[in-house]
Amino acid sequence: MKAPPQEFTEIDRAGIIPLCHELAGRNAQWHIHALHPGCRFNPNPSDYCFVIEDTGAKRAWRCFSSDAFTDECHELVQLLHGATILDDAALDPDFVPPRILLLVRDCVAKDEKWHHHIMKPGCVFSPDPENHVVTLERETSPEMEIYSSGQPPNDLQREVELLYFRQHR
Ligand SMILES: [Zn+2]
Ligand SMILES: [Zn+2]
Repeated sequence: MKAPPQEFTEIDRAGIIPLCHELAGRNAQWHIHALHPGCRFNPNPSDYCFVIEDTGAKRAWRCFSSDAFTDECHELVQLLHGATILDDAALDPDFVPPRILLLVRDCVAKDEKWHHHIMKPGCVFSPDPENHVVTLERETSPEMEIYSSGQPPNDLQREVELLYFRQHR
């Protein structure tokens, strides 16, 4: 994996939520990642790593912790995408699940360890930075599954986030 094209500014855990609110408040092109120990994008294999990116300003911040960032994620995913991102009722019944979602459902059904990344255009980790990307990493495969789209994949993302938080809360 090639080095990210920019440096990360290290921040304290307490600074994560205020920084995201500041970015949201000035309509920055921002997004977040919660990297697990062992995730290919996490340079520290024994810690969790939280990443905040302002892709418009090409800035990125990160914070390492021995504890998962689940609470921050739950709040910030909704700040980023609106509360409907975690609302079951907002799922579109006509949505045709792409292969990556079938794989996620399969992981859930088999109780296989998995996690995902939602990458906006310009994301430092993205294998396809021109597009919106969703990736899946799972225990039984060394390959990263990649979904790319020119449009924000809201239905895909909603179901993936719901499945993820159901397993981790
Ligand atoms: Zn990962
Ligand atoms: Zn990113």
